[in-house]
Amino acid sequence: MNQRINTGIIGATGMVGQMFINLLENHPWFNVTYLAASESSAGKSYEEAVRGRWHISSEVPGYVRNLMVEDASKVEKAMGKCSLIFCAVSLGKEEVKAMESLYASKGFAVVSANSAFRLAPDVPMLIPEINHEHINIIPTQQKNNGWTKGFIAVKPNCSIQSYMIPLHALIVKGYKIKQMVLTTLQGLSGAGYPGPSAYDLVDNIIPLIKGEEEKSEIEPQKILGAIKDGKIEYDTSIQFSAHCTRVPVIDGHTVCASISFEGKKPSEKEILDCWKNYHSVPVELGLPSAPEQTIIYRNEPDRPQPRKDRDSGKGMAVTVGRLRTCNVFDYRFVGLSHNTIRGAAGGAILMAELLAAKGFINK
Ligand code: NAP
Repeated sequence: MNQRINTGIIGATGMVGQMFINLLENHPWFNVTYLAASESSAGKSYEEAVRGRWHISSEVPGYVRNLMVEDASKVEKAMGKCSLIFCAVSLGKEEVKAMESLYASKGFAVVSANSAFRLAPDVPMLIPEINHEHINIIPTQQKNNGWTKGFIAVKPNCSIQSYMIPLHALIVKGYKIKQMVLTTLQGLSGAGYPGPSAYDLVDNIIPLIKGEEEKSEIEPQKILGAIKDGKIEYDTSIQFSAHCTRVPVIDGHTVCASISFEGKKPSEKEILDCWKNYHSVPVELGLPSAPEQTIIYRNEPDRPQPRKDRDSGKGMAVTVGRLRTCNVFDYRFVGLSHNTIRGAAGGAILMAELLAAKGFINK
């Protein structure tokens, strides 16, 4: 990329927005030129807008400290400043849809961490390692909406990469998965700031994250689907059953999973080989945020652990461990990924890199 793409962040002051700010400092392809959030942050410098609620352990990066935060509803403020927009806002589904459509209609490439458009049949929901071909639905989406340049592409839910990437490594080697039962143990930052109260969380586990189990079961079917007749058709061949819990961990979503195969069943060694030798299109394309090793298998019997493993591959790798046979299904394992990096901002940046590499984002 010989010229960096000017980039905006909507929801720049939030938990995910701050991670975008952090990861985009010195990004070789993207140059942050526009920040937006709610009316209450608008008109303040970024440093002022996040004072008292900056959650990242390093200081607010110098490159954004004095950048003015705009009111995201005033799309005209972004015009001419950038062509790529990352969006992560805590708003209702209809409000998110209206905002993202408005930006796409004005010609922006919108890459979203929000859930509003995830199930739309003409919107790609990407884990670039798995379903990079789904970007080819974008011209259909543009035609359906009468947009010439702009479009919307979305990230899936923050916990699913911890099991979908290990699953995909088996699927591409020809193994057919029949069923998966999974229990997520999701970190606090996944709930945004301030999230649930400390009184509810300390010394506790909350066995409900509203809407999360449905997302954990449906989104994989779209990701594994294929473009047919102008829409992304779901692959419903795997039955998923999810329990989602909130645990007192700051960052990192862990999953305990059991899987069964249909037909040929791999040995433990064959599964480990699939994970170790997983071929990644983002690595092949040289995308700057692609981790060198997408799946890291830990041999220690008590790994992965959020504190020790969430930052592997700069927060973009999926760490897997505890592969063993299952008394009910065929195998079980534990997966882990960083929710605000791989599961949100980092994953969205990787998507944008893929879109840029494939010529979908105009400078
Ligand atoms: P958050 O910490 O609560 O931040 C919300 C952001 O939305 C803030 O920047 C806020 O701006 C902005 N906002 C609120 N109302 C707005 C409006 N009317 N117009 C424009 N901006 C507005 O939430 P979060 O955790 O970053 O999550 C943001 C989105 O990412 C959600 O859709 C969430 O589901 C998704 N997500 C989160 C994670 C995660 O791990 N946290 C992972 C994947 C996806 P002000 O500061 O001005 O109020």
